[in-house]
Amino acid sequence: MCEKILVHCCCGPCATSSIKRLLDEQWDPMLVYGNSNIWPEEENERRYQNLLKVAQYFGDLKVYRQPYDHEKWRQFVSGLEKEPEGGARCLKCFQFNLRAAHDEAVKLGIKYFTTTLTVSKYKNSAKIFQVGAQFDGFQDIDFKKKNGFAKSCEMAKEMGLYRQGYCGCEFSYHGEVVTDNQNADGQTSITQTSITQARKQEGEENA
Ligand code: SF4
Repeated sequence: MCEKILVHCCCGPCATSSIKRLLDEQWDPMLVYGNSNIWPEEENERRYQNLLKVAQYFGDLKVYRQPYDHEKWRQFVSGLEKEPEGGARCLKCFQFNLRAAHDEAVKLGIKYFTTTLTVSKYKNSAKIFQVGAQFDGFQDIDFKKKNGFAKSCEMAKEMGLYRQGYCGCEFSYHGEVVTDNQNADGQTSITQTSITQARKQEGEENA
């Protein structure tokens, strides 16, 4: 019998090849999505909607949605706002999301959990494993291996998934044009405009 595993999913594209690998390796994956690091909230929602497409593709996998609380995340990484990507803020960010996934797994009575964060070529898997080791049941699966990142790109394209142009938080957003694997449906420009507006508003609030 396949062992259940709760998979923290950061977005749809990263979930594609990661879930495929888990299924190939005889796991029974269920997905969890919270990611209060993602800013603004509409971007969090958009990544969630694309994850739902992936869950459906693999036979309607169960997806547990956690509440979005960006303020709580901001407090958690407070003092690290100016850290470069890949630095101390990101370690805290991994900790925030992995703790949330661990707690969800405990609540659901699922012994094992892991994260799709390791599929990204921009993220250091060893650092993610270091953080994950703090939590019982964490499985240090390096989804980058076995050509995982390239496969995720191919699968995301096949599925017509939205692919974000930045990691997730406001500190990683530098005005990138958000790309979309779907045909022009208007969403790209709407998202871009909304992010710009949200940044402007944030700047005004902090002024
Ligand atoms: S850059 Fe990415 S990993 Fe780092 S804190 Fe921001 S959202 Fe989290």
